[in-house]
Formats: sequence, structure tokens, C-alpha cells
Amino acid sequence: MKPILLISPVDGSVYAERMPLTLQAAAAVAARAKAAQKGWAARPLDERIALVKAGVAKLNDMKDVVVEEIAWQMGRPTRFGGEFGGVNARTDYMSQIAAETLAPHMIEDNDKFRRYIAREALGVVFIVAPWNYPYLTTINTLVPALIAGNTVVLKHASQTMLVGERLADAFHAAGIPDDVFQNVVLDHATTEQLIAARAFNFVNFTGSVAGGQSMERAAAGTFTPMGLELGGKDPGYVRADANLEAAIDTLMDGAMYNAGQCCCGIERIYVHESLYDAFVEGAVKWVSALKLGNPFDAQTTLGPMANKRFAAVVRAQIAEAVAAGAKALIDPKLFPADDGGAYLAPQVLTHVTHSMRVMMEESFGPVVGIMKVKDDAEAIALMNDSPYGLTASVWTQDYETAQDIGRQIETGTVFMNRADYLDPALCWTGCKDTGRGGSLSYLGFHSVTRPKSYHLKKV
Ligand code: NAP
Repeated sequence: MKPILLISPVDGSVYAERMPLTLQAAAAVAARAKAAQKGWAARPLDERIALVKAGVAKLNDMKDVVVEEIAWQMGRPTRFGGEFGGVNARTDYMSQIAAETLAPHMIEDNDKFRRYIAREALGVVFIVAPWNYPYLTTINTLVPALIAGNTVVLKHASQTMLVGERLADAFHAAGIPDDVFQNVVLDHATTEQLIAARAFNFVNFTGSVAGGQSMERAAAGTFTPMGLELGGKDPGYVRADANLEAAIDTLMDGAMYNAGQCCCGIERIYVHESLYDAFVEGAVKWVSALKLGNPFDAQTTLGPMANKRFAAVVRAQIAEAVAAGAKALIDPKLFPADDGGAYLAPQVLTHVTHSMRVMMEESFGPVVGIMKVKDDAEAIALMNDSPYGLTASVWTQDYETAQDIGRQIETGTVFMNRADYLDPALCWTGCKDTGRGGSLSYLGFHSVTRPKSYHLKKV
């Protein structure tokens, strides 16, 4: 077996190196997780919640090292801190709703019958996590899975391997037993073999469409339930009645934050013709003010992409679009840190069409295409003209209009005057190639538990 290397986008150095587990060692991890599960589930719910919250508190104690490591691993500027706001809010919310959500749903309870639906932990939950929000994407499943009484095996992205180690350190330091939460380094083949061997009772995969398809193929015939949180090509739609300044600010931040590497980042924008010129002007101004550079520099607002191969995809999409008639409005000379590799100047494209990859395939980088539309119908048709369905962001002054448009859009979330945000109380879900299942909210607990019906009769 070959070691897995974590190449830092900051300077191209090898930041970490780990040997993946052999299939035999990985199977032993899964077996230990299985053996530990009944004992963990038998502990009182309050105790599990307290231990999970204590684990997250220990992670907060590691803030400085976590922020520095995120920058080295995937390039996010340190000025943005870690992901602690979201990690803490999601942990608190899921903890707060656990008792009510996991309580039996009583249908009848009297001297003749007791009938109810209970929720039971699934067993061993396997999390396969991506690098782009390495803590948040893991927490979304880790917290409800453990609270519900599952044990967890985590395989993090090679680009952010150290995140799994930090989480395990924090949770174990808080008193969660080693076998209840295990972090592993695995290659793809071993990951797939474990799933095919029914080592897990639930797989949560967050990542690319191709990765999700590999998970499904590996699980074929095993009936292992799976949550698939895959790619996106999320649109913003600016209606004629929008607050222009707020729309520019939020949509451009949604397109550029984290160097565009957000599953629900804004990747395409449709603007009513009456606001189009002003929107484009504002967008160019907004993007021109970004500072591309070393993520450890306090001035930097745009770090390198996580890997130069991701930047190469974005460069190719931009070049193809320009060759096909798109206009690139940002002069790359404004961003001298662009090195042709992981450090990539942001870009705003107009004169784009849906025949261009940049408007149809996930870019996952600091580029956005803007198109002019004449009415809601045209905007809705364009928003739906996508293989993906994660979120859509509609800009209007009117709730009713936003809801009406929302009903016609094929996505898991509809935002009005917001974008690129996960609300822990709402289900994080998608349709089409964005995947299946849901995390966060009370439904997030349903993903990691199964219903069990009790039909008790006195005779
Ligand atoms: P990725 O390449 O699919 O990898 C995701 C994870 O799956 C990594 O741990 C990766 O391991 C593993 N993996 C990929 N293919 C595998 C295979 N065939 N067998 C076993 N393991 C496999 O995705 P990524 O580049 O890390 O993440 C970016 C993608 O995630 C984007 O498409 C983004 O939209 C999506 N995403 C979606 C959401 C959502 O909520 N919908 C949230 C965040 C990200 P290695 O790293 O070792 O290859």
C-alpha cells in the first residue's frame, strides 16, 4: 500500500502523510464499532448528549491549531477563523431537539393497548467526508449519529486528513470511548470493499457525484441505507423588485467565499433586465476588492484553491467560455498572486449561455456567470435547466412571490434574500444529481435511526 499524501495548496509542500489501513485492519475497526454500539446506545440519552457537547467543547479549545491547520490543508484564510460558529450552532440545535425527536410516537396507551413507533439507532454509521468545509460536513452526521446511539467510523478526505484526527482527539478527551468514534485513513478500494461487505448500517457520503455513484455501486445489493450529499450549481435570481445592494453583496460573497468551494456556493446568476447593468457593475466592483494571497496574511480574503487540480478545472471552464464568446470582466492582472496553479484570480463572466460548461457543470471555484432575463418564467426555466438541485436564491421584496417561484424550482432549499447558508433547524437536502436523504433538523435524526413499531395488547 502507498502512503496518502496531503499536499498543501499554500506552498505545494507535503503537509502530512499517513498510511491507509489494510482491508483487514479496517474490517477490525468496523467490528469494534459494531461491538461497542449496544453499550453506547444503552447509555441514557442525556449522557450521550453531554458527552457529544463536551467533545465539541474540547474541539473549541483547539481553535488556534484547527484554524492554522485548515489553512495549510485547504487554503482558507485564517482571518475567517475555523468553522466554530456553525459547528457549535448545529451541535446545540441537534442536542436541543434530540429528546423530543427520538421519543416514541405514541398512538394509543390505555389498559387494553399500547401502540407506538419508537426510533432505534441504525448501528454503525460510516461518514465519508469532503475537504471543503471539513468540520461542518462531518458534524452534520457525527453529532446526531452519536446522540441517537450509533457508533461512528469516519473517513475524511485525503486533503483534510488531520481533521478526522482532531475530531477523534477532542471526542476521546471528552470521554467518548475510543470504539464509539473511530477515525480511519482509507484508500478508495478499501472504502468500497468495506461497504460491499456490509460493514456499516448507514453510509453518509458528502462529495462529488462521481464519488456518490461509486458508493452506490459498492453498496449494491447490500441494502445499506445511504445519505448522498453531492454537488451543486446553485443559481441566484435577482428580480426587478430586489434590493440591489444586498443582492450584490450576498450573491457575490456566496460565489467567492472559500474560493467558491461551497456545495451551495452561487455558481450562476440571472438578473432582471432592468437591473442587469447595475448588478454587473456592482459585481465587478465587489470582486475587484478581493485580496488573493497567502491564507496566513491578515489582508487575504481569497486564498488558494484546495488543490491545483481543482483550479485547473476552473481555468479550463473560463477559457472555454471565453473562446465561445463569454466576456471575462475581471482583469487577472489585478490579482498578481495568481500563479497558474492553486492561486487563481476570481472571475465574473457575462455573455454566457447554457451551452457552456461554466453554466452547467459544477465549477467549485471563484467564478460566476451572469445572464440577463426578462421575467420570472425565463429565470425559472434557466434555474431548472441543471442536473443539480441543492439551493436557489431568489431576490425580491415579496414572500408570496418567493414562495410561488420556490414551488416551481427543483432544489432542496429555496432562499429569499439569503444564500450559501445552512440553518440547523431546516433539512439539508437536495434532488436530481445533488443526492438523496437529508441531514440537520429533526429529519437528520430520522436518517440515522429506523422506525420500530410496538403493538402491545393485554389479554
Ligand atoms: P470527492 O472527491 O467525491 O471526495 C469526497 C470524499 O469521498 C473524500 O473523503 C474522498 O476520499 C472520498 N471518495 C471519493 N471517491 C471515492 C471512492 N470512489 N471510493 C471511496 N471514497 C471516495 O469530493 P470532494 O472533492 O472532496 O468534495 C467536493 C464535492 O463535494 C463537491 O462536488 C461539492 O459540491 C460536494 N459537497 C456537497 C455538499 C452537500 O451538502 N451537498 C457539501 C459539501 C461538499 P479522498 O479524499 O481520499 O479521495
